[in-house]
Amino acid sequence: MLTYDSFNRKTYDSAHVPQSPYGCDVHTHTLESRHAYSTIGECVAAAKAAGLELLGSTDHYSSMLYPDPANDQQFLRFYQYFINFHMWPRIWDGVRVMRGVEADIVDLDGHLFGWDIILTQGITGRAFKRPQSMKDRLWLGIDYAIASIHNGDFTHGATLAQTTNMYLRALEDPKVLIIGHPGRAGVPFDLDTVLLAAKERGKLIEINEHSFVPHYGSACVNTCRKIAERCAELGVMIAVSTDAHIACDVGRFDAVSALLEKIHFPHELIATRDAATFIDVVGKAIG
Ligand SMILES: [Zn+2]
Ligand SMILES: [Zn+2]
Repeated sequence: MLTYDSFNRKTYDSAHVPQSPYGCDVHTHTLESRHAYSTIGECVAAAKAAGLELLGSTDHYSSMLYPDPANDQQFLRFYQYFINFHMWPRIWDGVRVMRGVEADIVDLDGHLFGWDIILTQGITGRAFKRPQSMKDRLWLGIDYAIASIHNGDFTHGATLAQTTNMYLRALEDPKVLIIGHPGRAGVPFDLDTVLLAAKERGKLIEINEHSFVPHYGSACVNTCRKIAERCAELGVMIAVSTDAHIACDVGRFDAVSALLEKIHFPHELIATRDAATFIDVVGKAIG
């Protein structure tokens, strides 16, 4: 008997890939995220097949990947994938490839994973000229970061003012461009305050295809819809992304595109609608 998992996947046929309604997919994962299944090359090929102009690869930068080491100085070795991005072509088989990261927000001050791990040596053991945080070291070569919450335990008992401030502080990070899937994080916050802060900084709120899989339930869908509607009302730009953890999901926006159509979301507020718009947004927000 053929059974379906919670993602309702039945078949995939690379010869009949639906064309993406948007030019960019700026939140995707490769094998480097450990619970994802494709290489960067496979994701680029999938992006091309889906008609994307731009692919953003944003692997997890999070404590969910590796156990805490006894020796912090060895920790960089787990994450060295992020320090060699200059090997990647900027244009790969006609697809513009951007180098990103999805970083966990780890506390109510809006700090991002790795901020408190101070390194004195590189992956070979050679000493740095001056100590630096692992986050800063890894982020040297990235184009933008997505700040997301995957484990909100640290917000239990927090006030709305605290969780709102958490997102505001994360947005202050010069490389954070996108608040990742706030509708799925399960952490309440003052929506208008965070949305308007993102708008003021030219940064983006994410509407994430992956939040609409049945697994997360209708409450998650309703929250995502509410966020999208408020972005439309306040004139806040959004990033639409798949959060693909396997190449065949790259560029597939079935649920999000249906939602945005249903609520008549203004096209001009979709920062990922084409590559030129997204690159312009990155340039202005991050430089
Ligand atoms: Zn995420
Ligand atoms: Zn993700």
